[in-house]
Parts: sequence; structure tokens; C-alpha cells
Amino acid sequence: MTDNSKNNEYIRPNSPLGVKGASKHNIITPIKDSEDFFIVNPLYKSADIISANEIEMLKNNLDQNGDFAERGYLVNEAKEKKDFKLAYLDFTEQRESDEVQLFFVPNYSCNFACSYCYQEGYNPVQKAVTNEVIDAFFNYINTEFAGRRKYITVFGGEPLLPGDNQRKMITRIIEKANIAKLDLAFVTNGYTLASYVELLNTASIREVQVTLDGTQEVHDGRRYLKGKQPTFDKIIEGIDACLAAGININLRMVVDKENIENLAPLSLFAIEKGWTKSPYFKTQIGRNYELHFCNSTPEKLFDRATLYEKMYEMLKEHPYIAEFYKPAFSIAKYISEHEELPLALFDSCPACKTEWAFDFTGTIYSCTATVGNKGDELGTFYPEITKNETAIESWQNRDITTIEECKTCDVALACGGGCASVAKNKNGHPNSPDCRPVKELLSLGAAYYLK
Ligand code: SF4
Ligand code: SF4
Repeated sequence: MTDNSKNNEYIRPNSPLGVKGASKHNIITPIKDSEDFFIVNPLYKSADIISANEIEMLKNNLDQNGDFAERGYLVNEAKEKKDFKLAYLDFTEQRESDEVQLFFVPNYSCNFACSYCYQEGYNPVQKAVTNEVIDAFFNYINTEFAGRRKYITVFGGEPLLPGDNQRKMITRIIEKANIAKLDLAFVTNGYTLASYVELLNTASIREVQVTLDGTQEVHDGRRYLKGKQPTFDKIIEGIDACLAAGININLRMVVDKENIENLAPLSLFAIEKGWTKSPYFKTQIGRNYELHFCNSTPEKLFDRATLYEKMYEMLKEHPYIAEFYKPAFSIAKYISEHEELPLALFDSCPACKTEWAFDFTGTIYSCTATVGNKGDELGTFYPEITKNETAIESWQNRDITTIEECKTCDVALACGGGCASVAKNKNGHPNSPDCRPVKELLSLGAAYYLK
């Protein structure tokens, strides 16, 4: 195997007894722009850069130095099954103690009319949340999730709308969260953010997620007010005000084929503003994709593999983008930063497990992808508590051990089965796959981070 000092530090599996054949969980992919291959085994937490010759040896079960067995690439089938079961138990046990993210939607209305808004298709009820509903929400989560670590993310529509009533409502949410000693996060378009900073500072704020789709012209061409007025300057003012006040900003750029080229200029803009040096600043890229309803034309949208391929090329051409945003490339970034593998991913969808969503009508949903969508209701927390246990269980039972296609998939432990909501929309029920291009992403990630 390629002697890569980093690789040698990865956690090694115990040598399996009675070596028989290649592990079902070997993920092997040619590395982009290289003759070599990347082999990853999430069950045994091994990863190596190996040659074509070594791949041939592995295929033929040739293990001259015992390295393949030592790394878990060659295993005894019975032992592998047992190790899989044990790792699954670890995964589910660990999730029991994971923090729960509870989304609360106080309104679906919004002051923006973004060119691609998926919520446009929801025909939202234009009604204000009442104090009674806010109180019922806190009563519900304090009882239902008693003893669980948790925090609340206030979501919309737009939660930070202008106006006294909206401010009173946010004040009440903050007061209730402070009493319950819960952190709050906000997802906002950022238009009124600067004017909310003082109020937000009375809460324990985990982060404020703000969407900025590019530099001025590009952003203003996509994310404008209902009357088409520009929004860029006000958002920048809001981000600056939060960073100055020590409030964490999670800047989200939603990309498709129309604005991806602007990732480089936006990175430069953020670097020049000094944002990327702030301990309170981080970023994410959101892929514009079709959910239940989509205002974008499908030709504009990227599939995952093409988007990451594009980002790989852009990072090579403009290396400074990495100061602003570093793609995960499946688990490649994690491996390079931690010099070990993450836990095997038996389930990538937190819906109804460590994520729930609630709206101002008193309805319970699985997550942000389903909140407000007709047909995806799972129960109510107001005016009375009701639960559709069968529907909830269908979300909760979904993982790579229950989805037929995932049971025999070699990338399953890095994919985790994808998004249940996307799978449900595509296949009619959540217990179906939403495949991730794991090999394509690892190929790019190994080239970018590990070569
Ligand atoms: S259904 Fe999709 S959006 Fe919702 S929690 Fe699962 S992965 Fe996330
Ligand atoms: S969703 Fe698709 S790629 Fe992911 S584990 Fe299942 S079958 Fe494999």
C-alpha cells in the first residue's frame, strides 16, 4: 500500500480471524487526476491510497503482508456480520444521546420573493402565531423531550419580519427559551437582521443562518423583496452587525448553474471584508434542488456529483475559495482533518429521530423538508396533542438496514440512505433510497485533500 504517514495513523481494525474475502463495505474509487485508487472501509475505519496493482491483489484475495486483513479490507464473512451488528448497536445507542434540533415556524409569510422559492407552492396560511401556540410548543417540547439535549431553530417563511407584532412574538420565544435554558438559532433572509441584533443578544444564540447567493448583482438578481427591490446591502449590514456583536453567522449560498461561477467573487468579497478571519463566521453551500415544488427550471439545477465536480475544478483554479468554503466531498474532508474516519453512517436522515418541526398552526412534522407540506403532517401539539404513530414509525424505522436497496450497497456506510423526504417524493414512501454519489465524491475528495 502507498506509504502515507497520515493513513498509517487511522484506527486499525482488529485483525479478523480466518480471512476469506473482500469486505462488503470496501468502497473503491479511482482518484481524480491520478493513477491511484482510494479505498475506504467505514466499518473498520480504514482508508488508504492504493495502486492499481494492489487493487488486483485485493480482488484475488492476495494479502502478502497481511495488510489487507489488518485494515479490514479482507475479512471473514461471519465476523464481518457480527462487527456490522455491533457497530449498528453503537450507532443507535449514540443517537439516543445526540442533541435534538427542534424547528419552529412562527409564520410561512415572507418579505422576499426569491426566484427559486420552493415554499411558493405551499399557498401559506397568512396568520400570525399566538402566544397560546408559542406556550403550547414550549410545553410540548419540555415534556416530550425532557432529559434530552436540545435546541430550537426558528425558521419560516421569514421569522425576522419587520413590525412590532413580529418583534413581540420573537421576544416571547426568546423569553420562553431563556426560561427553559435552551439555545436558539434563526434561519433568516437577513433583510432586517441588523435591527434585530439587540433583541437577539438577550437570548443564547447558537447561530444565525443567513442566505447570500453571491456578490451584489448576482444576489440581487435572485433574492429580492416582493416589489423586486434589492436586498444585498441590508444583508451585509446585518452580517457585519452580528459578527461585531459576537453572534455566530452561518452564511449559506444557495447554488445552481446560474450563480455557481460567483462562488469565487463571493469568496473574495468575504475574505476582503475580514469575515473569514472571524471566529463567529462559517459558511455552507446549499444545492438548489427540487423538493415538493420548485420554481426553478430543472435545467438550472445541479445534481450532487456535477456540483462537486464543478467545485473541485473551481478550487483548483481559485485556491482562495477554500478560505471561504471547503466541500466535504463525502467523508474525505473529515478524514483529512481528523486523520481518522467518522462513525459508520447507518442513517443519514435525522427526521423524527434527532430532528422535528412544528408550525404556528399547532402541527407536527418530521423536519424542514416536510414542514408545511400538505400530507406530511404527523400530529398536533395544539390545541390538543395528537400523534400519527404509524406515520412517525415509518420515518423512525428507516435506515440502511431497512431499505432493501441499501442492504447490499457497498457505499451504504458512507451514504446512510440519503434523505427520507426526497426518497418519499421519488418513490411514494420514505423507506426507499435517496442515493448519494459517494464514490464520485470520494474520488474528488481524495484528490483534493489527501493527494
Ligand atoms: S427528510 Fe431529508 S431534509 Fe428531512 S431530516 Fe431527513 S435528510 Fe434532512
Ligand atoms: S441510498 Fe442508494 S447509495 Fe445510499 S446506501 Fe442506499 S442504495 Fe446505497
